[in-house]
Amino acid sequence: MFRLSKKITSLPPYLFVEIDKAKRQARAEGRDIIDLGIGDPDQPTPGHIIEALYQAAQDPANHRYALDQGMPALRVALAKWYKTRFNVALNPDTEVLPLIGSKEGIAHFPLAFLNPGDYSLVPDPCYPPYKGGTILAGGRVYTLPLIASNAFLPDLKKIPAPIRKKARLIYINYPNNPTSATAEKGFFRQVIEFARKNKIIVISDLAYSEIAYDGYRPASMLELDGAKEVAIEFHSLSKTYNMTGWRVGWACGNPAAVSALAKIKSNIDSGIFSAIQRAGIAALEGPQEHLRTMCSIYQERRDILVSGLQSLGFTVTRPKATFYVWFKIPQKTNAMQFASTLLKKADIVATPGVGFGDNGEGYIRMALTVSKERMREALTRMQKVL
Ligand code: PLP
Repeated sequence: MFRLSKKITSLPPYLFVEIDKAKRQARAEGRDIIDLGIGDPDQPTPGHIIEALYQAAQDPANHRYALDQGMPALRVALAKWYKTRFNVALNPDTEVLPLIGSKEGIAHFPLAFLNPGDYSLVPDPCYPPYKGGTILAGGRVYTLPLIASNAFLPDLKKIPAPIRKKARLIYINYPNNPTSATAEKGFFRQVIEFARKNKIIVISDLAYSEIAYDGYRPASMLELDGAKEVAIEFHSLSKTYNMTGWRVGWACGNPAAVSALAKIKSNIDSGIFSAIQRAGIAALEGPQEHLRTMCSIYQERRDILVSGLQSLGFTVTRPKATFYVWFKIPQKTNAMQFASTLLKKADIVATPGVGFGDNGEGYIRMALTVSKERMREALTRMQKVL
């Protein structure tokens, strides 16, 4: 009876929703599923953050509509965190915008800058909302393949001139989901130069900056000279503080881009629950020791999984950051088939790389978000069925 819009019909189904359905069904059948699918930390949110929420939730002042732009105190805490972590100075009034999770901001951002027919330059494979947000804004996606031989970095030289002319946005995400690749400042410099020359806004997604190993410290693109002229960076409390369900992220950087996003959001939402904003401040300003423990837990799991997969014959690189392991599967099968075999025969959920884009074909992503015992159990099961 109702006709769907062209935009919604051209949206692909959201990958994790589909995988979640298959997982739920398997669990309903009573199977013991090991979930290496979605990147959702299994460790709890640190206690002092929960306590801050509890206290703030008692205060009726926090029960009303929050301001669209986020509490000044939260914006100040975010700016301070950036200064301490990256030595990047941000004006909390004009260069920082809290979000209801960074996914929300990433998906809404193209509404502020794309007209019908404009292009977003989108890495492939990628975090799905880069494409979804572009399509919902009426834009077109131009794919930047991320391939192993180029260290999973986009080759900007290969973007044809007519596309550059019509491109308004470019998405950059390092440490990267799903490939777990990292990028150095030299690459960021190239991106900034490219953006300046072509008048394109850079969307830098830094969700995984704190999940890193072996002493590696990922950089923010905003550390580079001139970055703020062209870039907006998206970040999040989700992975850093095990707060995926709380929904707190932020955008920062270029003030015109930040204020355009704020305008879009003021028409769509009414801010983050104030008690959660208070808890966010507690996260940013409180003790940070859990980070070291958290990364060492992931690192141990990474080593178990990478060594295990290598001894099963897979080609795997040991990631320096993110909690994902991205590996190639035998050529005779494809990613969907492989993931489906893992689920059917080994009760393991893994994400087929092709779900992140065509260039993810031939790869599987596994998340380090189960205990090391379960990780070992998953490897034993894989050995039996493969
Ligand atoms: N960016 C990347 C690359 C991600 O992988 C994720 C979540 O998995 C996000 C952003 C969104 O995080 P959140 O919306 O929880 O802040």
